[in-house]
Amino acid sequence: MKRHFDRIHCTGCGNCIRFCPKGILKLSSEPDEQGIYITVTDEEACISCRSCETMCTRGAFWFSDTDEMPEDIRIMGRESLPDHAGCQFGIMAHMLSKAIVNLGIEDTVTIFRSDRSEANLLVDSRGYEAPYFFEEALKFKQEHPERLVVIFYSDPKAGPHENAKERFRNLKDEKITLIHCLGYFEQTDDYQGYRIPSEYLAEQMAQKEGASYIARGNLTTVPDTLKTERYMEEALRCQMRGEGFSVVEIIFPCFFRLEDRPKDPITPETRGRIHQWFSDSIVPEFRPGILKEK
Ligand code: SF4
Ligand code: SF4
Repeated sequence: MKRHFDRIHCTGCGNCIRFCPKGILKLSSEPDEQGIYITVTDEEACISCRSCETMCTRGAFWFSDTDEMPEDIRIMGRESLPDHAGCQFGIMAHMLSKAIVNLGIEDTVTIFRSDRSEANLLVDSRGYEAPYFFEEALKFKQEHPERLVVIFYSDPKAGPHENAKERFRNLKDEKITLIHCLGYFEQTDDYQGYRIPSEYLAEQMAQKEGASYIARGNLTTVPDTLKTERYMEEALRCQMRGEGFSVVEIIFPCFFRLEDRPKDPITPETRGRIHQWFSDSIVPEFRPGILKEK
């Protein structure tokens, strides 16, 4: 397989560098008009492990036997991801597009999301004002039971978390798949400590009679990211079998909010520090895994 790199989509966030096992990726020393980007220092050393593809926050790296772009990259909505370099919504959108392509459901899935840009996949994807896309999705599923409905719920701060609690708890046995992107974590003492969200929603939903599948993932390592993609696939499979609601909670650090919405771009070093804090403190508290399956 040949590695392709789309310079135009690279934000220079540096996430891929952290995961290349051969250490052959580096940021350009001479920015062009679009800023810094990634260079490969030793082509011969590349083992085609595809970690750069999995961990790229923008879909800038992709692999193909031909020069044709794979369907998962094509439909992940690279053009409309949030602006901040390093934002993990790009990885989530890519893992969701992979799950959709692997299941061959590009034409039968409908995604409901906020009207901002978090998972604007190039399938039937509908944006509504948050949090009302949730109700719109349930109504749509009742009217169109033949469609596979995904609710992409971004939950990075107190308000959305309150809304999430209220809505998730009211689920009964609706045949939908909920992707819960949980970024509501607060650092304390300059990333020495943390406050956890007030609720462990995945655990609560796993107790519900009507739930068919509940899992939690993260995007902290390559294996965990690939596992998160498989959880999404399995959650969608439950809906394809007509089972009750399925949920994949994906925990992530919202750099922008954690750094108090800075005017200047967040540096790769700061993101690295936040990644470390998140892996050491939050991931052990919110372990990845399957919490319920039938
Ligand atoms: S495929 Fe693997 S070894 Fe090659 S550049 Fe990407 S991460 Fe590095
Ligand atoms: S992760 Fe993607 S967007 Fe970020 S520097 Fe690497 S190639 Fe560029």
